Amino acid sequence: MPNGKPAGVRCLHLSAESLCTIFGQPERPAVCSGFAADIEVCGDSREEAIRLIGWLELATA
Ligand code: SF4
Repeated sequence: MPNGKPAGVRCLHLSAESLCTIFGQPERPAVCSGFAADIEVCGDSREEAIRLIGWLELATA
C-alpha cells in the first residue's frame, strides 16, 4: 500500500483465504518480513488474533 496500511484496514495484498499474496517477494514490506508470529499478538486462532490486535490498536492509539 503506497502510503502504508492504516490500522483496521485490510491489506490489499491479503487474499480471500487470508494469505499474503506477496509473501517471499521483495516488495513485501520489511515490517511484515520482520514480524514473527507471537502467541501474545496472534493468540491461537484467527478470531483471537483479531480480538488481540483490536485491543492493541485501541491501547496504542
Ligand atoms: S504480510 Fe504484510 S503485505 Fe502481506 S498481507 Fe500481511 S500486511 Fe499485507
